[in-house]
Amino acid sequence: MDFAAELEKCKNYGDIFSLVKKAVKKSLGEHRVGLMLLLGNLPMKVGAFHPIGTNDIVLNRRLLKRLSREKRRLEWKAFIFSILLHEYLHSLGYVDEREVRGLVYQICAENFGRDHPVTEAALTGPWTNLSEEDLMELGEDLELELVKDFERTNHRYII
Ligand SMILES: [Zn+2]
Repeated sequence: MDFAAELEKCKNYGDIFSLVKKAVKKSLGEHRVGLMLLLGNLPMKVGAFHPIGTNDIVLNRRLLKRLSREKRRLEWKAFIFSILLHEYLHSLGYVDEREVRGLVYQICAENFGRDHPVTEAALTGPWTNLSEEDLMELGEDLELELVKDFERTNHRYII
């Protein structure tokens, strides 16, 4: 399967997340379901976070908005891919940050090649974690919003 071509075809978060899952399945043989995606206003240095023990992935709405203005479409999707992959690995039980970053790079390089924007995004991040202080400051500004149709059973993808 040509992951680079598939990424070009992705139209939304759900499409990109399906591709993330296929890459993880292929590289690590692991899989899980039941995740929810939310958008929220996080500090700009944070791409996303996965509150441990929940089924949620929270993407940084503010950062994504800015990047969608600054980046080309493919780079933007590459960024989303690497961020969702990172959080998905956390949700599979990988808690060590260094290990997760290493795996993200490995999985991207294996499936997209070393020179693809996805692999570049895997190296550049942003991978700063939310600190306790950040969490305290979030408050009402966060404006959490659930992304519909994020995870679906898509029969085209059943092998
Ligand atoms: Zn992390």
